[in-house]
Amino acid sequence: MSKSEPSSSRRSLQVALDERSYPIHIGPRLLGDPAWLTPYLAGQQVMVVTNETVAPHYLARLREGLPAELTVRELILPDGESTKTFASVTRIWDALLEAGFNRRCTLIALGGGVIGDMVGFAAACYQRGVAFIQVPTTLLSQVGSSVGGKTGVNHPRGKNMIGAFWQPRAVLIDTDTLLTLPERELSAGLAEVIKYGLIRDAEFLAWLEGEMSALRALEPQALAWAIERSCRLKADIVAEDETEQGVRALLNLGHTFGHAIEAHQGYGNWLHGEAVGAGMLMAAELSQRLGWLSRADVERTAAIIAAAGLPLTAPADMTVEDFLDRMRLDKKNVDARLRLVLLEALGRGVIHDETPQPVLEELLATFPR
Ligand code: NAD
Ligand code: MG
Repeated sequence: MSKSEPSSSRRSLQVALDERSYPIHIGPRLLGDPAWLTPYLAGQQVMVVTNETVAPHYLARLREGLPAELTVRELILPDGESTKTFASVTRIWDALLEAGFNRRCTLIALGGGVIGDMVGFAAACYQRGVAFIQVPTTLLSQVGSSVGGKTGVNHPRGKNMIGAFWQPRAVLIDTDTLLTLPERELSAGLAEVIKYGLIRDAEFLAWLEGEMSALRALEPQALAWAIERSCRLKADIVAEDETEQGVRALLNLGHTFGHAIEAHQGYGNWLHGEAVGAGMLMAAELSQRLGWLSRADVERTAAIIAAAGLPLTAPADMTVEDFLDRMRLDKKNVDARLRLVLLEALGRGVIHDETPQPVLEELLATFPR
């Protein structure tokens, strides 16, 4: 146990963004507690948006926490990354207009990152911007996508290509929701948790090495701490660099390689976190070739990724050219330079756009398939 690990499993922290600052509340049995949601409602009109998978588990419980005098509407969208489209967001706007909702309405996103990103984007644009609350129900969305205000949808030509920065009023994380999450989705979320340790916090990384089996067994204390620490690290990075002019790019560790894998395989075949898991190991290997990490550091990285139940290899049929073609399209690239997030040490990420092409190609050629 880390010396800073709390004994209670209910925790709160703040994302510091001046007048747009907001709290993140974390703990079990938060859904359905009125004290939890009501402070963040802008007015009397509330629309809860969720999907067909999440609704049967949690929609009724969330509604129990909304005072009876409110006007509440529900919208249940289909499940899946393929629904993260402009057409789905239009359905949200249609429902808001049909209900006659005004600028003081509040949208509540109940679900994983797909729902959170779409509802945030709908809120950013509806009547030039209304309040929204994130109630993330996957580990990935609890430690990542619900914090920081990146919202948007996919375009047929690329993931997350249409969107806006729009911060929520609050992020409300009921850790009990993870009890119904498929194991593979839990592992995918752990990839993002490991990422925070690798880029910013060696002590947290060491804690994760010891607690990985407790996390996979959904042990509440361990989960609450992993989520809190991840949110703290993300909130600090976002407070420093809200619109990704600099340090926020560190959050993309493993993502340039990972996005190439996801795109090559067709979205949905590898989960995002699985691709990021393999991608982080690729970044560690490359960092070792550049003389920054030791062989032992790379072995530790591989061991924790494996312990989280994530892959250590790239897809069997993926060639060096497949990687390079996809990586050239990455949003992080500045002009023609390939920008990668690498590791100067375990716990210290660095943004690097001077990787010699032969070193990169050698890594891509030799990384296990
Ligand atoms: P997701 O929203 O598709 O959820 C994964 C699956 O779990 C879905 O089938 C969902 O219905 C189901 N589910 C959700 N909660 C559940 C629960 N409690 N019990 C059982 N099933 C549950 O995927 P995700 O991994 O949460 O998020 C991925 C999305 O997040 C991607 O679209 C990605 O682009 C986005 N993202 C955004 C940011 C950001 O900063 N905005 C960051 C990272 C990822
Ligand atoms: Mg990610």
